[in-house]
Amino acid sequence: MKQIDVIVAGAGIWGCTVARVLADAGRSVLVLDRRSAAGGNVRCETDSETGIEIHTYGSHIFHTHLDDVWTFVRRFTEFNGYQHKVLARHAGHTYFLPLGLTLVNQFYGLDLTPSELPAFIAAEVAKCPHEPRATDHEPRNFEEQAISFIGRPLYEAFISGYTRKQWGTDPRNLPASIIRRLPVRASYDVNYFSDTRQGIPLRGYNALFDALLDHPSISLELNTDWLSWRETPAGAALAHVPVFYSGPIDALFGYRFGPLPWRSLRFERERVAVQDFQGTSVVNYTDADVPYTRIHEFKHYHPEDAAVMSAPSTVICREYPLTWKPGDEPYYPVDVPAARELLALYQAESAKSPRVVVGGRLGAYKYFDMDRSIGNALETARSFLQENS
Ligand code: UDP
Repeated sequence: MKQIDVIVAGAGIWGCTVARVLADAGRSVLVLDRRSAAGGNVRCETDSETGIEIHTYGSHIFHTHLDDVWTFVRRFTEFNGYQHKVLARHAGHTYFLPLGLTLVNQFYGLDLTPSELPAFIAAEVAKCPHEPRATDHEPRNFEEQAISFIGRPLYEAFISGYTRKQWGTDPRNLPASIIRRLPVRASYDVNYFSDTRQGIPLRGYNALFDALLDHPSISLELNTDWLSWRETPAGAALAHVPVFYSGPIDALFGYRFGPLPWRSLRFERERVAVQDFQGTSVVNYTDADVPYTRIHEFKHYHPEDAAVMSAPSTVICREYPLTWKPGDEPYYPVDVPAARELLALYQAESAKSPRVVVGGRLGAYKYFDMDRSIGNALETARSFLQENS
């Protein structure tokens, strides 16, 4: 049997990055994944009729300000220069996100300039003082934080309904950190992300994963869940080998302390017989009475592909958040105090077995963007190499 130096359990973006860095350093790596293809939730499929790249698990847009990550990822793919713009539908009108001059002027029927916007927002915020907090250091909840950024009318129109649908709970039960993801700008810049390094892999995400794993020292075994495989004779024979695990941390310990809470998503896909359904890749539906949070229209991710753009039909996908239950795909960790306590218990267990390094979104129970996941994987693999040189 071929010598294996390291096992990577989970072939998502974190696992594939770890595998590649270790293989480049001369380690022989066995990558296992329970699914039938690598890529985790970034995996895509191609629509047979139109050739459109479908983001099976919801839209993924690569964006980063991390030099190291950008340099690494471009060894494996070119990007098409796509810049993400998101529209919001509210009360029968369409607005450009993020919250900036375009949206605020349209919403209030004003013509504010960049220098006038901060004072206007500050006056809106001052109209709704926060409930007193015990101390200034007490963290704000999501709603308090959002209103302190943008005032109540914008919060009610664009944030509160969407957030309730997305997280299935009152925004006052959510941490302020979630809203800090949402940019607010005093300009007409409607680019959703502030990172200039942005785009979609020119030949698609699957090609990126193929390239990451295309190394003579990497072998890939699909349809193989390491959690059960480790109990087999083949697994037992490698029981001494370091493992980089990016599955759910609670599953690693058989849900011993109970399952960590996740938000899951259900996608309803439809092929529509029009060339262009909504004119952009993502439209958020911010009102509570629309049951889905957003509609994705995938062809817009490849504006450089004339055949796809001019195809007479298009593929859209409505996204419905739901409470995770065993068997569903976990998407978003629900960062509430009870979950943090549970996570600490699992992390304490994990610290007892340093042979298994836990990471990635499911392992770290963190709302990682793709670049953060790659950055963390680079760091993890490099420190492993340093400690085991
Ligand atoms: N959000 C919102 N309205 C929007 C978009 C986002 O209220 O139109 C809030 C919502 O709580 C969401 C958070 O901002 O969970 C972060 O949004 P982001 O677009 O980063 O979410 P992702 O695309 O990662 O699901």
